[in-house]
Amino acid sequence: MLACIDWHPHAPLEPLNLDWLARAGVEVAVLRLDLIDPLISGNKWFKLTEHLAAARQLGAEGLISLGGAHSNHLHALAAAGKRFGFPCVGLLRGHPVQTPTVRDLLDFGMELHWLGYGGYRARHAPDFWAPWRRRYPHLHGVPEGGGGLKGARGCAVLPGSVREQLPALGWDDYHGWWLAAGTGTTLAGLVLAEAGQRPVYGALAVPADHGVASLVATILEEGGAVGSAFELIDASRGGFAKVDPQLQDFIARSEQQGGVPLEPLYTGKALLALWERVSAGRFAPGTRLVFVHTGGLQGRRGFAP
Ligand SMILES: *Cc1c(COP(=O)(O)O)cnc(C)c1O
Repeated sequence: MLACIDWHPHAPLEPLNLDWLARAGVEVAVLRLDLIDPLISGNKWFKLTEHLAAARQLGAEGLISLGGAHSNHLHALAAAGKRFGFPCVGLLRGHPVQTPTVRDLLDFGMELHWLGYGGYRARHAPDFWAPWRRRYPHLHGVPEGGGGLKGARGCAVLPGSVREQLPALGWDDYHGWWLAAGTGTTLAGLVLAEAGQRPVYGALAVPADHGVASLVATILEEGGAVGSAFELIDASRGGFAKVDPQLQDFIARSEQQGGVPLEPLYTGKALLALWERVSAGRFAPGTRLVFVHTGGLQGRRGFAP
């Protein structure tokens, strides 16, 4: 039931030991959102929390949302539905396919509807939700990916979690955040929470012309941001979900040396973009960064050779 969700997961903060970081004198700690739970993983849980709270307040019994056949968002939602026992419905892009993600959604008990491509493109139309609301009056609708100000606010708890873990790491403070950005919602949550204290670097998993900057700006404005220091860096390497051999090599080497599992769409590209910046000498020796591991490892099963 939605009423009894009171879960504050722990994301471990771990040092990342890589030779190129050591050479540059840059220290990185990874906030492992991929390790919050055996079933529920990544930033998508945090982006859901305020939507869950809104649903509860409205007296809804469960949630309905949309995504693709590898969606980390639908996966986190369905996993939460299974864990906490609330109903959820997923509206999927395209035509029925079996992916590891889709199999999990069904195992978790999510009810699926395939919208085709045209049907999915209509998701921003004003009358899109009306029939679904009639069909599922007891469910609360969540925008694609759990975005918007609510999604961002759910991520604003992350700095507190880092603060608590600094002593164990031997750090008195840190200089900034580095994370993968898709819609920029998670980044916006950090920017809101930081209120200009530390810069937030977003490594874009989508090409720079996808409007992320304006999505972030909208959230920050709605959230009443003060002193928002952030930078968006193109890390997409030719497009969302484009994977090249250099990226694959880099991920394999980083996983082996650093012991942190990565996937190619978000976290792998984000770390590679950090490598580029560190190699270019753009972070002074002594810089300490928190790299947010945004999860997504469930989705990489769809990419396994
Ligand atoms: C969705 C996702 C992101 C992007 O999050 P935004 O809040 O949309 O920027 C980053 N990493 C992973 C693994 C994701 O699943």
